[in-house]
Amino acid sequence: MKVSVLGTGYVGLVTGVCLAEIGHKVICMDLNESKIEMLRRGNPPIYEHGLKELIDSNMKAGRLEFIGEPEHAVKNSSIIIIAVGTPPKVNGEADMSQVDSAAADIGRFMNNYKLIVIKSTVPVGTADRVVSIIKANNRSNSESKFDVISNPEFLREGSAINDTFNGDRIVIGSRSKRAAAKIRKLYEPLKIPYFVTNPESAEMIKYSSNSFLATKISFINEIANLCERVGADVNDVACGMGLDKRIGRSFLNAGIGYGGSCFPKDVSSLIKIGENAGYELKILKQVIDVNRIQRIRPIAILEGLLQELKGRDIALLGLSFKAGTDDVREAPSLYIIENLLNQGANIRVYDPEAMENVRNIFGDSIAYCSNPYEAAKGCEAVVLLTEWPEFRELNFKKIRAAMKGRLIIDGRNYLDMTKLLKIGFEYFPIGISLPKAKNEKAPRQILSKKAPGLVLNRLKTAQLPI
Ligand code: NAD
Repeated sequence: MKVSVLGTGYVGLVTGVCLAEIGHKVICMDLNESKIEMLRRGNPPIYEHGLKELIDSNMKAGRLEFIGEPEHAVKNSSIIIIAVGTPPKVNGEADMSQVDSAAADIGRFMNNYKLIVIKSTVPVGTADRVVSIIKANNRSNSESKFDVISNPEFLREGSAINDTFNGDRIVIGSRSKRAAAKIRKLYEPLKIPYFVTNPESAEMIKYSSNSFLATKISFINEIANLCERVGADVNDVACGMGLDKRIGRSFLNAGIGYGGSCFPKDVSSLIKIGENAGYELKILKQVIDVNRIQRIRPIAILEGLLQELKGRDIALLGLSFKAGTDDVREAPSLYIIENLLNQGANIRVYDPEAMENVRNIFGDSIAYCSNPYEAAKGCEAVVLLTEWPEFRELNFKKIRAAMKGRLIIDGRNYLDMTKLLKIGFEYFPIGISLPKAKNEKAPRQILSKKAPGLVLNRLKTAQLPI
């Protein structure tokens, strides 16, 4: 089938490339000319495992082309997928300007029947809004020439290609049987179960799914904070909870909260959709509040341990909002860097993929290092912010030797605690109350002056579990 994808960001590019891989003829179109230039040379502007190889092979096979003109994309396809951004406005609402302009282009250049597929995450009512915009911009003004369906995307950055080929479900929101049948045919080779509903429900499914996942994360982070105070280990609590099939283990990893371009904006947007409909989503407001505090948890720990952060050298390992991507949108690292800079700390960072994106934000105010050992050099504390697998494999004796101090704050509960304590680090995970030393009644604790109520369990090698 002939398909155009408008927007070649994380979603549009992966979708276009995967559709080409299953045999469709795909035009990926973006208004950003430098992205298109890079893609034409076979260089993806984003990091996603396996993407470059698929771009190369599908371009060679003649199934994939990259262009900057909407006219060519609209005229030369029967299915047009809208995958442009819907970033948050200051008030939390989704900014619909990219979707509106894509819809206007479709209306302007439509030359015969088109199936328009909204893949961007959009507020309820957008399918109808897109219909109106297309009609308003379509000179022939013919009503029979197109259908608009909602087809929200569920891929995750870091595993986007695998998710596209092996998704849990394809949600289709359509009022037309003809349109639903056509989109099913497009995805047929993927053999993924379908769920067909009306556009409003499809739009709600996407926001509700992301909001539920964000809720799970904030829930376990609250439990983690309580675990620290009552002598429990949140990792064990999550495992024990997750064995219940009604709960499940996934998204119960305590840490420094959620980030990225989706959860923060989608939760805010759903709250706004509620407000506009006269309904207050109270739980989701708390989810945001918990996350706001949690994402700078390492700062509270540092303040508790070092008191004054001015002039202190701190290393940050990992900057992307999660492993497997270079995306730093709403990453906890940005808030942590900003806070540390405001307090006058010296920051040294390392990330395998996201350094350039952070440099675009913070410029020369922090030191960008070529590896984790260089980042740790002369630092009093190393803070792990992203669970890149390579960080688990580090030579921590070498890290220890490079550092001035011996604090490790593990924002993802990702490192091997036993190993680190044996090497002589003081190790601070999230939500784990560590065992008592032999003659101690309770773990030694530090009360943070700057963050009242925060209790830190100071670990010693002697406190290692037997
Ligand atoms: P992005 O910002 O990475 O990419 C959007 C692209 O659209 C940009 O390259 C921009 O230049 C282009 N664009 C803007 N207006 C255009 C127009 N009129 N015509 C053609 N191109 C245009 O965004 P993204 O992360 O890929 O997200 C896209 C949508 O998918 C959002 O609504 C997002 O919420 C949703 N989504 C994202 C993810 C994710 O993991 N990133 C997952 C599921 C859903």
